Amino acid sequence: MTVSVATLGFPRIGLRRELKFALESYWAGKSGLAELREAAAGLRIANWARQKALGADILPSNDFSLYDHVLDTSALIGAVPARYDWDGETVDSDTYFAMARGTQGSRVGGCRHGHDATAQEMTKWFDTNYHFMVPELTAGQRFRIASTKIFDEFEEAKALGYATRPVLLGPVSYLMLAKGKAVEPLALLPALLDVYADILARLAKAGAEWVQIDEPCLVLDLTAGQRTAFERAYARLATRGPRLMLTTYFGGLGDNLDLVADLPVHGVHLDLVRAPGQFEAALARLAPHILLSLGVIDGRNVWRANLPDLYWRLKDLAAGRDLILAPSCSLLHVPVDLASETALDPEIAQWLSFAAQKIEELAALAKALNEGEDASFSAFSASRIAAVARRTSPKIHDPDVAARLAALDETATRRETPFAMRREAQQKRLALPAYPTTTIGSFPQTADVRKARAAHIRGEIDDAAYARYLRTETRAAVKWQEEIGLDVLVHGEFERNDMVQYFGEQLSGFAFTRSGWVQSYGSRCVRPPILYGDVSRPAPMTVEWWRYAQDQTDRPVKGMLTGPVTILNWSFVRDDQPRATSCRQIALAIRDEVRDLETAGAAIIQIDEAALREGLPLRRGEWQTYLDWAVEAFRIASSGVRDDTQIHTHMCYSEFNDIIRAIGNMDADVISIETARSQMELLDAFASYAYPNDVGPGVYDIHSPRIPATSEMTGLLTLAGRHVPAAQLWVNPDCGLKTRKWDEVRPALVAMVAAAKAMRVRA
Ligand code: GLN
Ligand code: ZN
Repeated sequence: MTVSVATLGFPRIGLRRELKFALESYWAGKSGLAELREAAAGLRIANWARQKALGADILPSNDFSLYDHVLDTSALIGAVPARYDWDGETVDSDTYFAMARGTQGSRVGGCRHGHDATAQEMTKWFDTNYHFMVPELTAGQRFRIASTKIFDEFEEAKALGYATRPVLLGPVSYLMLAKGKAVEPLALLPALLDVYADILARLAKAGAEWVQIDEPCLVLDLTAGQRTAFERAYARLATRGPRLMLTTYFGGLGDNLDLVADLPVHGVHLDLVRAPGQFEAALARLAPHILLSLGVIDGRNVWRANLPDLYWRLKDLAAGRDLILAPSCSLLHVPVDLASETALDPEIAQWLSFAAQKIEELAALAKALNEGEDASFSAFSASRIAAVARRTSPKIHDPDVAARLAALDETATRRETPFAMRREAQQKRLALPAYPTTTIGSFPQTADVRKARAAHIRGEIDDAAYARYLRTETRAAVKWQEEIGLDVLVHGEFERNDMVQYFGEQLSGFAFTRSGWVQSYGSRCVRPPILYGDVSRPAPMTVEWWRYAQDQTDRPVKGMLTGPVTILNWSFVRDDQPRATSCRQIALAIRDEVRDLETAGAAIIQIDEAALREGLPLRRGEWQTYLDWAVEAFRIASSGVRDDTQIHTHMCYSEFNDIIRAIGNMDADVISIETARSQMELLDAFASYAYPNDVGPGVYDIHSPRIPATSEMTGLLTLAGRHVPAAQLWVNPDCGLKTRKWDEVRPALVAMVAAAKAMRVRA
C-alpha cells in the first residue's frame, strides 16, 4: 500500500494578512488591479512551495480566492444576479467585487456602470465562523463558464512544476447553499450539470487527473429530493473527465453512507476528526477500488495530534489499501503558522499545531505508514511527549474548578422565583415607564478610540493615560444618554477590543496569539482565543467600568457581559473534554462576575448570547442535546441573583422558530433581538409560544448608515404590539452601535426615544 498526503485547501489570507492589505489598498483606490493580482499570485506561489516543502504530495489549486470560494463558483458558472448589469461574457473583477461588497455610484472597485447595487447576502459556512456569499438564482437561470480562474490557477501551478488537484465546490452543495428567486435551486441542476461537465472536461484537457469536488452537504440530513440530486449529478459527472475525489467534511456521512457508496466516483474523503466512528462503516461499505482520503488531522482546531495513536489506529484498519491522509477539511479555518507565535507560553505552544504544522504531522504519519514506525521516530516521540505533557499539565487542570463543577446542583440553574414575581420586584426597584428605552451596549468605536488602544498596546501611552481617555469617553456617553432621555443606560464598551477577547484575556484558561489570524469573510480576519485549560475568573472583569459609569448618573446603567455559549463558540476550544463541560466552566466564571456586579449595585445585567443559534449542530438529531447544555450554561451564568436584579440577554439574529423553546427556558427577564429589517415578522415565534418575559425587538437597523425616522419606529412598535403584548415591549436598536458613527447614532437614538414617548402617549 502507498500512503500519500493531500491538503484540501490552505489559508489564503497569508501569514501577515498580505491578501487583506492588498485588497483593502485596491478597494481604496491606492493600488491597481495589476498590483492586486501580483500579490495574489505571490501568495499562491508561496503556498504551493510551502505545502510541498512541508511534505504534501497532493496540492490543491483553486483553493485560493480573492474574496470567497462560493462567490468564485458563482463567477465560474456565470450566476450573476441582474442588478449587477453584467454583460454575460466573463465576470470581471468589478462585477466580482460588486457582488461581494455592493457598489455605490462610481466608487472605485464598484460596478463599472457606476450605479448602486447591494452586495449578495452573506452567511456562515456550515458551523464555522467563515462567511460565504450566498448564490442568488432565478427561474430560468442560465449557466455558462464565465471565469477562467480554476483553469488559470491550474496552469499557473503546472508552469511551476506542480500537478495540482483543482478544488471545485460540487453542484449539489452549491445549489443547496443557494437562494432561489421564484425557483427551487435544485430544479436548476440539469442546466448546472451541463456547465460542470464542461468545466471537468476542460480540466481534464489541461491535464488534471483528479478533481477535489467538495460536497459538504453530504454530512447533513438530506431529503429524498436532495439524495436524488446527488445520484443524478454524479451519474452525469463521474463517468468521463478527471477522476473525482468526492470530499465531505464537518461531520460524518451517517445515513448518507449508502448514497455515497453507490455514486460512481473514484475517491471519497471522510472527516475522521468530527466523526471518527464512521471509518469502520465506510471501510466496510465503500467498494475496494474507491480511493480513501482520510481526514485525520483536525482542520477546525489548533491542537497537535497524537501521531503514535493515529498510527496504530490506521496501520491495521487500512492494511492493503492505498490511502490518502489529509486534514479533516480545508486549512482555511486555522491560523497559518505556529512558528510566528513567539510570545505564546512555550508550554502551551508545544500543544498546538497550525496549518503548516498540520501538514508536517500528516507527512510524518504517512512516512511511518509507508516505511515503518521508526521512519518517523523523532516526530512521533515529540508528538507523544507533547500529548503526555498536555494531558498532565497543571496549567490545564484546576482542581478547584473541577470541585465546583461537581458540586453544581439544580439550584444553581434556576432563579429563585418565577418571572411574574421577579417582574414585580424589578418594577418596584426600577420604576421604568412603559416602552422602556435602552441600547445594546457598545457606542461608536471611533478612529480615536482605536488609535488610543493601539497606542496603549504599543506602549506609547501608559495605563493611566489610557484609562483617563476611556473614562472621558465613557462619561461623555453616559451624560449624553441621560440628556436625550434614554431610560436604561450603558457604559459604551470603549475599553473592549472585542466582545469575546476582552473576557478571554481576563479569564484563566485562555491563550491569545499574535498573528493567529483566520479569515472571517473577504479581507476580514479574526484571532480566536485558544481555550486550553479549566476556566476561572481570578478577579472582577467589568465591575470597575460599570461603577465608573453608574457614578455619573442616577439612571440605571446595565452591567454588560458576554455569555458562556458565545465565548465558547467564538474560540478554539479544548478537544480533551466535551464542549458542554468547557461551557459550564465559563458559565461559572460569568456567574461570579454577575454576582459581583449585583453586589456593586447593578440593578440590570445583560449577558449577550450572540452566537447561541449559530452553535446549532449540523444534524437536527443533535440539536436538543446542544440546546439543553447551552441553555443550562446561560442559566448557570444568570441565576445567582436576587429577584429584583433584572437579567437581560441579547441575540442579533432573526430566526427564532427553531429555538424559541430554548429561549423561553433561558428565562432572561428581557431579551433584545434583531428585527428592524424583518418588519417584526419574526416576533411570530414569540407570539405562538406565548413568550411571557419582556422582549426588545430592534427598531433601528444598525447595519445601515441610514437614520430611521420616529414614525418608522412607531410603525415597527405598533407592528410588534400585534405579536407581543405592549406591556412586554422594550425599545432598542438591533444590536450594538460600535460600527456606526456618532453622527448617525445621535439623531437615530433621539428619534428612537421620541418614538417610545409617542407610544406611551397612545397607550
Ligand atoms: N453588547 C455588545 C455590543 O453592543 C453586543 C454585540 C453583539 O451581540 N454582537 O456591541
Ligand atoms: Zn447583536
